[in-house]
Amino acid sequence: MHISGSFDSGNIELRDGELHIRHDVGGEHMQWFHFRVTGARGEACTLRLVNAKAASYPEAWEGYRACVSSDRKAWRRVDTRYIGGALEIAFSLESEVVWVAYFTPYSLERHMELLGWCQGRARLDRLGTTLDGRDLDRVIAGTGDKVVWIIARQHPGESMAQWWVEGLLRRLLDSSDALGRRLLDSATFHIVPNMNPDGSVRGHLRCNASGANLNREWHEPSAERSPEVLHALAAMDVSGVDFFMDVHGDEELPYVFISGCEGVPGWDEQRGRDDRLFRDDYERACPDFQQVIGYGVDKPGEANMSMAGNAVAERFSCIGLTLEMPFKDNANAPDSDHGWCARRSMRLGAAVLQPLSALLDRL
Ligand code: ZN
Repeated sequence: MHISGSFDSGNIELRDGELHIRHDVGGEHMQWFHFRVTGARGEACTLRLVNAKAASYPEAWEGYRACVSSDRKAWRRVDTRYIGGALEIAFSLESEVVWVAYFTPYSLERHMELLGWCQGRARLDRLGTTLDGRDLDRVIAGTGDKVVWIIARQHPGESMAQWWVEGLLRRLLDSSDALGRRLLDSATFHIVPNMNPDGSVRGHLRCNASGANLNREWHEPSAERSPEVLHALAAMDVSGVDFFMDVHGDEELPYVFISGCEGVPGWDEQRGRDDRLFRDDYERACPDFQQVIGYGVDKPGEANMSMAGNAVAERFSCIGLTLEMPFKDNANAPDSDHGWCARRSMRLGAAVLQPLSALLDRL
């Protein structure tokens, strides 16, 4: 059996015959893994990731099931066991090559195919260049007065965030979708499908090429540490922002939820109403979204202003929402074969058009 992770978003290290998850640059974070297993067809195997306990969210391994695929299109869940600080992934190999990942990967190649599909349906531009020399891409769609900004994958290991964006774009830019057409008339969308392409390709969990956690850089981004944030903020200053959403995945909680910006200095009743109604509408549009379980709500004035949702909400006096999807499953509607998956992320992304449309009517 041979194991390797030297490819786009690959992450595994073989040391003295043991499997280790490699740290992001900076050495603070790790949890994302993605590798291939070759030459063991027909065998039952147990892979041990021996440093799982040192992961950024070790509690997240409890109840977690890994993703495996033979064709890189269909990914199924297999059982794991978190024991003695190691994560054991047990399954039988049904093909010569099997890929194993923390969540269904979203490759740079697919990112570029998505841009290709958007071309002609929307405008494309690049906000700037990343530290590894990659393009930071933006999709601009619609002609309306309201300005909607949506960014995803500041944390590169949260690949569900880009699946969500693809689901949103495939519906928004589908000329046979009446709601999409109406939204494009009433608003202009600025969508960054991947805020952290360097971290994505490097197989990072949370950081960019300099080791910066981009969602802690919005109070003072710099060209050296966080050019991605600097570029996005500069573009927002040009366009303005009436609604902002930042799309993420959560390692521990098996639910879809939103974290708001109630703790920003300029929070007011109007934004509170808009936020509440948006969440109610989203729950009706897609019952995978729920409002019972989530992070705590910041007290007035106690928002962490280094985070995108808060920083953008304050700067532009709008609501800034952080959407979280699970790495595990939606415990309210579990799927034993797939858990939470790329398809459900895309459906949830497509469903956001409804609450968004209702909100823009009220703004
Ligand atoms: Zn995140």
